[in-house]
Amino acid sequence: MRLDKYLADAGCGTRSELKQNIRKRLVTVNGEIVTDAGMHVNPDDAVFLAGQRVCLTGNRYFMLHKPAGCVTATKDAGKTVMDYICEPKKDALFPVGRLDKDTEGLLLITDDGDFAHALTSPRRHIDKTYYFEAEGVLCADAVQKAAQGLSIGEEKLTRPAVLVIQKSDSAQGIVTGTLTICEGRYHQVKRMIRALGAQVTYLKRLSIGTLSLDCGLQKGQYRSLTEEEIKACHTNLHEQIDVT
Ligand code: URA
Repeated sequence: MRLDKYLADAGCGTRSELKQNIRKRLVTVNGEIVTDAGMHVNPDDAVFLAGQRVCLTGNRYFMLHKPAGCVTATKDAGKTVMDYICEPKKDALFPVGRLDKDTEGLLLITDDGDFAHALTSPRRHIDKTYYFEAEGVLCADAVQKAAQGLSIGEEKLTRPAVLVIQKSDSAQGIVTGTLTICEGRYHQVKRMIRALGAQVTYLKRLSIGTLSLDCGLQKGQYRSLTEEEIKACHTNLHEQIDVT
């Protein structure tokens, strides 16, 4: 198929808009800039427009650096994470899981319902690492307590979590660190830190499984996942299935 038709069929614009973008050297095929709109492309060629992967078929996966102040939803009276996404056929896209309005960091956006369901399923225990800043003083055995599982006011203790304290200034009552959890209970990190003696004042998700937030993304920016990242996410999902 011709390159301009491929891009038009993928919903990237009209043929004339696309011809202009090709002339502006915004399109690459298998890593090479292409300036010929009539170039023949195959379905398995890696076609990118302005740095974003363009797929005729198959699902789309993006990582967003979520800023604070927007809700993780497709629709809301206020600002949503989807307001930062500018893609053709955007209605098919949705966020995977949820970050609180005041939480920043890595959020996946996709149109792959099975993937989203698997990633957020309580049967899978995908690690999610958060950086936190908190006010207060964590109890002396906070690391061990987190590792054993905490009571956060629910029937079941949390699953074991990995707490790494980076800075702890008891005189000023400030603590920073990371917490890696493998569940997704409501306000889980804030409630766990609360149970350990401090109050979260800032929270940012750094990673989900093997996938880390791209430090080149400013707040509110997003990019497509690479082929390798998508493969790694799917492998991670298969490895983490657990029926307990
Ligand atoms: N835990 C929280 O408390 N908030 C989030 O947004 C994510 C995890």
